[in-house]
Amino acid sequence: MMFTATKPHPGNPFKRWELRVCATKGHLTYRPTGPGTTKLRDRLNTTTAHGEAWRCLRCGDFVLGAPVISGPLASVPHIARGKAIRQAFILRLLGAERFLRGVGLLLIAYAIEQFSDEKGSLQHLFDQNFPAIQSAAAGFNYDVNSSAIVSLIHKSLAISGSTLIWVTVGVVVYGLIEITEGVGLWLMQRWGEYFAAVATSGFIPFEIYEVIVGATTIKVAALVVNIAAVIYLVYTKRLFGFRGGAKAYEAELRSEAILDVELAAGTV
Ligand SMILES: [Zn+2]
Repeated sequence: MMFTATKPHPGNPFKRWELRVCATKGHLTYRPTGPGTTKLRDRLNTTTAHGEAWRCLRCGDFVLGAPVISGPLASVPHIARGKAIRQAFILRLLGAERFLRGVGLLLIAYAIEQFSDEKGSLQHLFDQNFPAIQSAAAGFNYDVNSSAIVSLIHKSLAISGSTLIWVTVGVVVYGLIEITEGVGLWLMQRWGEYFAAVATSGFIPFEIYEVIVGATTIKVAALVVNIAAVIYLVYTKRLFGFRGGAKAYEAELRSEAILDVELAAGTV
């Protein structure tokens, strides 16, 4: 059972994101223990006609029952709130897309490597498997037909074995870069955000070139998405010292954390 906080957040436009996470993961109520936490404990705790209630550190609602976590302040995990939840959702979506593309590229590299001895077979294998790859890729809006990698493979079918090795190496490196981006974004690590911003920017000149050579809707869309992704990463995560850099980003997170707000309020 739950009742609404006595002090709701009328100005919090991200509350529904927090409630959505609480609905799936459950509320995260907390009882601070240890010296100097009495004031904070009083602010996070209330007594109702139905018993004690503790404040959820994510959505801010008071929830009936015993606290989910209890311990010293240092033991409280970082809890994403507000904008941070929305950002995590967008970046994980981007990360998943990068990861899947990376795995696809490694599979393509594997196929080239396996069949590089028999060019006839490679052509055969490619013809045979291409429709499957194409429909799978279409699932996440990746037009294989207009992909530079695929046209590279088409061309490499007609070239010598040694060149084919370099094509394979290139595809593997590209695949590994995409997978690293995907993992870094999914784990929401700062290195991953930097890596994704740098790698994505690195490919933008090639994507511009592709659009110039032969523009398709998918190519233009991919270019727009990647430019937007770099701007989004640099702007929201304050990379490269932008908008105050890491320090300002940490401060932004802290300003949204219920615990920090209540701690500050408790000292006044
Ligand atoms: Zn909650």
